[in-house]
Amino acid sequence: MESRILDVEGWEKVVHFTDKETQLEAIISVHNSNLGSGLGGCRVRKYDSFEDGLTDVKRLSRGMTYKNALGHIPFGGGKAVVFADPYSEKTPEMMQAMGRAIDSLQGLYVSAQDSGVTTDDIREMRKATRNAAGVEDEQGRGGNPSPFTAYGVWQGMKAAAAHKLGSDSLKGVRVSILGLGAVGMALADYLHQEGARLVVADINDRALAAAREKFAAEVVSPEEACAQDVDIFAPCALGGSINDGTINRLKAGIIAGAANNQLQQPEFDGVLKEKGILYAPDYVINAGGVISIGHEFLGDWNRDKLYGALDNIATVLTQIFERAKAEDKPTGIIADTLAEEIFMQA
Ligand code: NAD
Repeated sequence: MESRILDVEGWEKVVHFTDKETQLEAIISVHNSNLGSGLGGCRVRKYDSFEDGLTDVKRLSRGMTYKNALGHIPFGGGKAVVFADPYSEKTPEMMQAMGRAIDSLQGLYVSAQDSGVTTDDIREMRKATRNAAGVEDEQGRGGNPSPFTAYGVWQGMKAAAAHKLGSDSLKGVRVSILGLGAVGMALADYLHQEGARLVVADINDRALAAAREKFAAEVVSPEEACAQDVDIFAPCALGGSINDGTINRLKAGIIAGAANNQLQQPEFDGVLKEKGILYAPDYVINAGGVISIGHEFLGDWNRDKLYGALDNIATVLTQIFERAKAEDKPTGIIADTLAEEIFMQA
């Protein structure tokens, strides 16, 4: 295995790895470790160029510093990318080599799943390092982060409703969910149990049929999900749901969902503020999964403790909403400021 440190200003350590034997090419990026090891997923993807992969891993690792700080877990921000097609080029041997690359950083980076990486891949990595998490133990603790992400989004939504609608009860509240995958479907379940009225959209007909049957949800097309006459819009599919084409069509007073990078441009949080729409910053409200992974990695996966930490997402969001109101600033800017106050002073 060969490695070389890349000189990237503003990032603590960025290392390029190549392993001829297994065809591994990867970059591990640790943005900041003031709070602890850089924790964040490993993504396997066929990038168009080395620069594209580097740009992605830098952006993602920086995002994890902010997410983990506001998730109040003792981890900094890190991320890894592997330059390979996850379907045709990834092999168990390559993932073991990735484990060796992770291990060579001696705990500075802790890996988990991201797109193109499965639980089996994490198991392969763990043959070479203990610094990879997201696998259920023998007692069924930890593992799949999606249910914890969904729980955190539900709690965050309640905090947004309390701030904007005057009550944290979602009974009778109308919510439009775009994306009924692992997180969106579990979120719909929580909301239905609380008595919310659901509108749903997806490209998967089976998911739509299930939501219609289980939650009496109204089905609309993905293009129309953002424009529903509802109280809350919950983007839970891909990033960029709030874009040039949708921002002027929003009718909801609250945006609170699981998707990463919901705003096509960061400045859109200012536009939402001007429109009087309360935006729950995506990386704060969707931190439940990484909070669970962090607890699992620390050998600290205790249900009560974990759910206490997930409930704290609502407390942090309330703090953000109140400070944004007091300072007359967009919620995204306040979230970043709060995160920086935590990790820069650590
Ligand atoms: P998933 O792949 O299980 O579900 C995504 C859903 O979106 C699928 O049902 C898919 O059919 C649907 N979809 C895809 N493209 C669509 C389109 N154009 N229009 C409508 N629906 C579309 O993913 P997930 O794990 O539920 O994650 C959802 C989002 O939340 C992603 O943005 C992910 O990055 C983010 N997120 C997930 C977690 C987690 O723990 N899984 C944690 C943090 C953030």
